[in-house]
Amino acid sequence: MRCVPELKAKPYKIDFIEIEMPFVHPFRTSFGEQLDKQAILVRIEDEDGNIGWGETSVDDAPGYSYETIVTAWHIQNDFLIPILKDNNDLSISRIMKKFAPVRGHEFAKAGIESALLSLKAEQDKVSLGEIYGATKTEIPTGVSIGIQRSVDYLVKRVGEFLDKGYQRIKIKIDRGWELEPIEAIRKEYGDIDLMVDANSAFTVDDVDIFRKMDKYNLTMIEQPLAYNDILEHKKLQEQISTPICLDEPIHSPRDAILAVEYGCGQIINVKPARVGGYLNAIEIAKTLGEGKVWCGGMLETGIGRLHNVFYQARSEFTIPGDTSGSDRYYEKDIIFPAVEVNERGYIEVPKGKNLGFEVAEERIEEIAIRKISHKLF
Ligand SMILES: [Mg+2]
Repeated sequence: MRCVPELKAKPYKIDFIEIEMPFVHPFRTSFGEQLDKQAILVRIEDEDGNIGWGETSVDDAPGYSYETIVTAWHIQNDFLIPILKDNNDLSISRIMKKFAPVRGHEFAKAGIESALLSLKAEQDKVSLGEIYGATKTEIPTGVSIGIQRSVDYLVKRVGEFLDKGYQRIKIKIDRGWELEPIEAIRKEYGDIDLMVDANSAFTVDDVDIFRKMDKYNLTMIEQPLAYNDILEHKKLQEQISTPICLDEPIHSPRDAILAVEYGCGQIINVKPARVGGYLNAIEIAKTLGEGKVWCGGMLETGIGRLHNVFYQARSEFTIPGDTSGSDRYYEKDIIFPAVEVNERGYIEVPKGKNLGFEVAEERIEEIAIRKISHKLF
């Protein structure tokens, strides 16, 4: 495992491409409804024509994170690019440390980091999985299902995903949409691997609802309480037996280790971009180990999706993640071929150089909203 990836040559040119890609089905959570996927794709090239691809997968509204497409664009172009122009270092982790004077804005930073890591794989003519310490040839997958128009319709959709082979079902819950859908799914499908994600819709005063959930043998309850809280989760965890998984409040390896060591939750949903990039995400996985981490997602396009596939191909990832097949969200992805879940519920880890799949630049042109290029030297 190369923990400290060094580039062979400095990046010469960097492009940011904002895209808007329509979802097959609107995605509804306790934050609201999303019809399109917005993202900033990051394309980095060196003087030999090697290209690295990364993705900044943020939403257009500050619901999940305070970062939005507009803030990420601003931070990347106005603050991170000047740092990159000044940089002569080839170590990707040291480049990331140079971003430290820009506080927070982990998604903005992670988008650039992921493109640098992909450039490194391209320069070395190896799979990105080698850079990420991947050891598996396939990863187990789960699906995240948004809030539906009725319990019956949700039960039907769960069945469709089970038929497709998904190994773990996660449903989004909200106040008034919790016990009834769980009960209905258990009744219909028995002891499947089932978990819920509340996206911070509850408070510690709702402990009775969570005590009632204990009897359904859920794999975990994700982020029941406030998005910026770690401590209240400890109070809730002490009163329920279902493991709590933290998502929104974990922004660094330090947060993740603190939360698990102090019993504020037992499991971390690692979204690499939320913790400032894949190098931090790898550190979290190595420190917490098997059974304590799984990989979430931001409904990434094919590029971010492949980065997540390689990350989860590390040995620590035994809990199925949220990385679905491309067809779960998009009619036409920006990579070729699309990411597919096989009938056993696994995604095969691509073996080829870099991302292993081709980036469909014509498709990116079609869905691009704006683009900016910077020469770094
Ligand atoms: Mg979540």
